Amino acid sequence: MFESLSERLSGILDKLTGRGALSEADVNEAMREVRRALIEADVALPVVRSFTDKVRSRAVGADVVKSITPGQMVIKIVHDQLVEMLGSDADPIDINAPAPVAIMMVGLQGSGKTTTTAKIARRLTMRDKRKVLMASLDTRRPAAQEQLKVLGEQNSVDTLPIVAGQGPVEIARRAIQAARLGGYDVVMLDTAGRIHIDESLMLEMAEVKAATNPHEILLVADSLTGQDAVNLATSFDERVGITGIVLTRMDGDGRGGAALSMRAVTGKPVKLIGTGEKSDALEDFHPRRIADRILGMGDIVSLVEKAAEAIDAEKAAKMAAKLQKGNFDLEDLADQLKQMEKLGGMSGMMSMLPGISKFKKQMDAANIDERMFKRQIAIIQSMTPVERRKPDILKASRKKRIASGSGVDVAEVNKLLKMHRQMADVMKMMGKNKGMLGKMMGAL
Ligand code: GDP
Repeated sequence: MFESLSERLSGILDKLTGRGALSEADVNEAMREVRRALIEADVALPVVRSFTDKVRSRAVGADVVKSITPGQMVIKIVHDQLVEMLGSDADPIDINAPAPVAIMMVGLQGSGKTTTTAKIARRLTMRDKRKVLMASLDTRRPAAQEQLKVLGEQNSVDTLPIVAGQGPVEIARRAIQAARLGGYDVVMLDTAGRIHIDESLMLEMAEVKAATNPHEILLVADSLTGQDAVNLATSFDERVGITGIVLTRMDGDGRGGAALSMRAVTGKPVKLIGTGEKSDALEDFHPRRIADRILGMGDIVSLVEKAAEAIDAEKAAKMAAKLQKGNFDLEDLADQLKQMEKLGGMSGMMSMLPGISKFKKQMDAANIDERMFKRQIAIIQSMTPVERRKPDILKASRKKRIASGSGVDVAEVNKLLKMHRQMADVMKMMGKNKGMLGKMMGAL
């Protein structure tokens, strides 16, 4: 899925990440390449144009926080724009309506409509514990009703008994009636397709819709057909009205043009994707996860996000200057602790890095958590400004006052002071080696 697009985009963006500074020309050049990659992936032209315009204007005006390279910032902007283009939030099938809830499946012949009907029914049955009835309304293709029956048997989902000679609307009415009598939660209507859209198909769909009042009308479209799938969705929506789209054969789609343009062009959500021939090869369409998959840089994106939220570039610069002079007082320590707390503590930061989960247990055991940061900040806040700048003046009576002011015992105040002393020593040492300090501040 998305392999060729993913390869292209990461190639383009990789070139930016290592750079210290990016000019407007650099961003423009990268956007020209991104534009080419999206066009080659068969994304609709207006969608491509709006995408690159938005990324460009946000990248040029962006506040680049100190700890992040401009290239990483561009990756984050591209990522956010991809998520927006894909529809922002996942939009799952909605079956919150009085039972039996009718789901009408529409689309062209060969798009994977019958297979998808069975996939959804199976998932509603097995995962969501719903009682589902499937009915094939396809009276044109001789084996269609039989095909659904076999899929039903394979997946332990009931199908409406076949009655020869009935038309689609009759079958649909019978299905709703049977679902009502049989206590079914959901009834899935697998309508007939055609090779191309034609008037008779649209009329048939409108009739079935009027007879059954479906809660969801899902268009099944073959992702490999790219922009044709998008045009198909537009036509079906104009004529019949659809509530969402299922894109099939995503397992074979390296380009992803249909998936990327569908939401922006039609305004309708892609709800599900088919990722294989088997009955369990069905996935929810999560815009964020898909964007992560396309860029292959999920970890960078979430690190940038957290850092951008929390780190104040000016403060970091001031801190660096102070450290180079070798003054690291308790005020600075409190600032550092607050930043760590904002980043979700050590455990929050570490959980974003792959393969680190095994260390998490040890950290939990060592009690390094957010509560500790909070207590330490409270201790520093109980000190006077002079005490914070010159911790050497803290003798027994002052320590006692601070401890009771912050609700801890004196031993904890001592522990904090010792930690500060050790940190200040390390900082002083590193202050003499500016390159090393710079690197550390950059990594924060
Ligand atoms: P219909 O005419 O629209 O009902 O299409 P079918 O459900 O009969 O599917 C046509 C073919 O596409 C079958 O061979 C399916 O196994 C295959 N197919 C359906 N969905 C997918 C999918 O997501 N991935 C792959 N690889 N094949 C699929």
